Amino acid sequence: MDRAQFDTWLRDAALLGEENGALVIGVRSDYAREMLQQRMYRTVSRVVSDVVGQQVELRFVVHAPKLPPTSDTDMPLFRLLAQQSGESAPAVPLHQKLIRPAKAELLDYDLNPRYTFDRFIAGGENQMVAAAAQAVAERPASAYNPFLIYGGVGLGKTHLLQAIAHAYRSRGLRAIYIPSEIFTNDLVDAIRNRTTALFRDKYRSADALLVDDIQFIAGKGSTQEEFFHTFNSLSSFNKQIVLASDRHPRELEALAARLRSRFEGGLIMDVLMPEFETRVAILRSWAVEKRLDLPITYCELIAMRVKDSVRQLEGVFNQLAAAVQINRQPLTPDLISAITAGGCRAQRSQITLERVLAVTAEHFGLTPDDLIGPKRASVINQARQIAMYLAREHTGASLPQIGDAFGGRKHSTVLHSCSKVAEDIDQDVTIRTIVKDIRSRLIKLSPEL
Ligand code: ADP
Ligand code: MG
Repeated sequence: MDRAQFDTWLRDAALLGEENGALVIGVRSDYAREMLQQRMYRTVSRVVSDVVGQQVELRFVVHAPKLPPTSDTDMPLFRLLAQQSGESAPAVPLHQKLIRPAKAELLDYDLNPRYTFDRFIAGGENQMVAAAAQAVAERPASAYNPFLIYGGVGLGKTHLLQAIAHAYRSRGLRAIYIPSEIFTNDLVDAIRNRTTALFRDKYRSADALLVDDIQFIAGKGSTQEEFFHTFNSLSSFNKQIVLASDRHPRELEALAARLRSRFEGGLIMDVLMPEFETRVAILRSWAVEKRLDLPITYCELIAMRVKDSVRQLEGVFNQLAAAVQINRQPLTPDLISAITAGGCRAQRSQITLERVLAVTAEHFGLTPDDLIGPKRASVINQARQIAMYLAREHTGASLPQIGDAFGGRKHSTVLHSCSKVAEDIDQDVTIRTIVKDIRSRLIKLSPEL
């Protein structure tokens, strides 16, 4: 049983007593009782029998939990059983020993802690959209619902969506942030594992649902269908829906008409590339955060040259910070020119998946086929994960497209690799340096080379 199932159906279960040789177990709702009795009986009874040391019968009844809310790692039913079985409770809670790691597919997609409103710098061009996002964050389901942000790659859509989610969570609201591809993936899994009830419960019980890159559901029949129902269910309970797309919904040709009209019934706003002054302000705020002593004239120099996206601006800034803080290069206009020249050339010559594979493989002394193939040696694995991460950042390919390019791997695998590398970059200087090196080669290499 995975974590989400456990949390939904069993976490508050309590042993109430014994009746005609059957253990009576109290659960939260009718729905949970049905689910446990009909669908999960075998699993639960096997585990409980295992714990008690003999075959037991179970009976589920609905009861209001008297226990205070339990912590994440607590599970009263099994703890109680463990104590009753005579010996003192084992050091590792039984349910932890018994539970297999949750499947990546059902994990909640984590928020980037950096994507908050105070780190979003909005000049004249984006003040409106930032203010609207703030209003949605402060007054869920009453300001604008749904709220849809659209705009080009690397302009801050994900940042704003997650900033709203952070605001909700900090107030104890249950906000689900999810890229539409993961929503699709979850749905496909749910259909395959016959857990659509669970799937619906997960999405429809949220206080707010924030779906990123919604353009990827266009043309996907059953995902659009399910999303339509999720959408209706949430709005009928007056819950907030926030969406991001790379285009205005009217330009998403394969989007189901009824979804488009739902989207158009809310507020639609675009994010634009920040003007020069805002770019300077963004660079200055990053410099303060990273403690990089970057004079204003240098900020202006960079802002003058980098005009395509904030992500590109960030790439240039990160390279500069690495050159100065890690490689101890002197901070000069020449250094800035070298880095921005690389960054801007890369923007003109699209970075392809093939190029990411080739450059990353070469850095590790491997071939692209090593990364595509099934080998799992640790260096190959690491190179593969880094390549997936860079592909996600630089190519604009969707998770399934990246999975395909890497020899038909599942997009949950790609997603897992991306979060793993992102985490490593945060914690491990070696990885950070490796990724920076490959990134700068990726950006600098012109496609002819
Ligand atoms: P999108 O989802 O539109 O492709 P992101 O939200 O991922 O773009 O933004 C790319 C990067 O640029 C992120 O690291 C984000 O924090 C940063 N960024 C974008 N816009 C701004 C802004 N106005 N102020 C500060 N950082 C920004
Ligand atoms: Mg995004």
